[in-house]
Amino acid sequence: MFYCPVKIYETESLNDINIDFKHFGEKCLIVTGRSSSKRNGSLDELIGTLDDNKIQYEIFDKVVPNPTFGNIISGVEFIKETFFPDFIIGLGGGSPMDAAKAIGVLLKNPEYEVEDLYNTDLERDSLPLIMIPTTSGTGSEVTQYSVLTNEQTFQKRGFGSYGIFAKIAILNPKYQTDVPEDIAIDTGMDVLSHAVEGVLSIKSDWYSDAIALKAIKMVKDNLKNAVFGVPEARKMMMRASTLAGITIAQTGTIMIHAMGYPLTTYKKIPHGRANAILMPVVLKYLSKYTGKANKIISVFGSIDAFDSFIKGFVSEKLSMDDDEIVRFASMVVNAGHMKVTRAKLP
Ligand code: NAP
Ligand code: ZN
Repeated sequence: MFYCPVKIYETESLNDINIDFKHFGEKCLIVTGRSSSKRNGSLDELIGTLDDNKIQYEIFDKVVPNPTFGNIISGVEFIKETFFPDFIIGLGGGSPMDAAKAIGVLLKNPEYEVEDLYNTDLERDSLPLIMIPTTSGTGSEVTQYSVLTNEQTFQKRGFGSYGIFAKIAILNPKYQTDVPEDIAIDTGMDVLSHAVEGVLSIKSDWYSDAIALKAIKMVKDNLKNAVFGVPEARKMMMRASTLAGITIAQTGTIMIHAMGYPLTTYKKIPHGRANAILMPVVLKYLSKYTGKANKIISVFGSIDAFDSFIKGFVSEKLSMDDDEIVRFASMVVNAGHMKVTRAKLP
């Protein structure tokens, strides 16, 4: 089954697309990061459009990268002190968009605790969500996932629910003009990782493969120029990010994301960069089990060319002591990602 219920708009000006915000209500909560949306013009443009549409808004601008349970709770408490919103706009990278989804579920279901977000026996539907991504990375604007970190257990884990699909995603390449090189690399590697993992997932099908392989080719052709800030290449990475998000909405992510999470929480390696370090070795390993790996490798020509492509952006070596290896591995083997990885694992 292929399912993408999100209306996707691409524009260079919010006013050009005539979104009927009033359809969602009169009051809105904007969930965003601490500073980038103020610097890149996206917050000002959004506020201007909401003012024009006579929508009342409040701004929660305290979302941290890799949002924690505490971060989500403070967003919920912040808005409860002011008004109850009719809808929520997530503005920023994957972290604010994921936080918006979690806050949306907790406001819609006031009896829930944060842990309930993971309870698949519960309906986890959100207030209506609009997503405006400002990184080309997670594709969260078109996925039914939200990834949060439990700061007590240091566990980073996603929850999924069709109830947190956005109603609308608005893609605007202008917001990414000044993305620094390191963030363009980290997030670009996340795009590649989603598309690669989508192909290797046991849930992949003809439709998801068509989209994922297109995204992989777009990353190969555009990431270098995007990192240098070439506008057309940045626009293509923005589109690739959304395509890769549509892919993982069907397929999930596999062992690369599961292995990357402890590297982010414990070793402080940014999400996409952690995946990049793992990708060549996992692709090589899984190529023993599935011919589908060759579909990815053939985009680059060879596994060595794939490896070189990644090392052209991310060259750091990973160092872990024996204790870390055992701890991280025990988290990975229990992750749901392993069930969709196309391999017979030891
Ligand atoms: P992020 O954590 O949202 O943001 C990283 C940094 O980029 C922040 O410092 C942010 O600044 C800055 N930034 C964002 N937009 C910018 C812009 N236009 N110009 C300059 N700086 C900008 O990064 P992300 O990689 O997009 O999201 C990662 C999170 O998403 C992780 O928690 C990951 O696990 C999750 N994820 C979710 C999904 C999903 O489907 N839901 C999929 C994959 C990954 P500010 O903090 O000031 O905004
Ligand atoms: Zn990711």
